[in-house]
Amino acid sequence: MNTNSQSTYPLPQPTSFTKAFWDACQDKVLTVYACNDCGHLFLPGGPVCPQCWSSGLVSQPVSGRGTVYSFVIYQRTYHPAIPAPYVVALIALEEGPRLISNIINCASGNIVIDMPVRVMFETEDGFMLPRFEPFNPDQRNEG
Ligand SMILES: [Zn+2]
Repeated sequence: MNTNSQSTYPLPQPTSFTKAFWDACQDKVLTVYACNDCGHLFLPGGPVCPQCWSSGLVSQPVSGRGTVYSFVIYQRTYHPAIPAPYVVALIALEEGPRLISNIINCASGNIVIDMPVRVMFETEDGFMLPRFEPFNPDQRNEG
């Protein structure tokens, strides 16, 4: 048992409905859930499609590109493993689904709504988490 839990990063606890998403993150692949019946793409994972209630769901890789839909700058440290300031943002993926993540590699004062971002992966205590950084869609750097 870890006796130093206060400084341990609070990692996601995958469930049977979110395991596919987190497993893909460990391979640095961002995925969404896709409905086999109506084609709806969504996050987070759940037992059924939120559009048509079908349980025929699959995990599908996405581009990792999106825009900042909304964000908050935390100026106060709430967890010792996550020192302020840090940014929590709602990212709208190009494919439609939104997810909550962090914005990194960007001064918080430079973050604006609709700013293009792309996913990158960072490890916390050996667990790979998707985070987003600024991205200029006109300068796509392949490789
Ligand atoms: Zn559906």
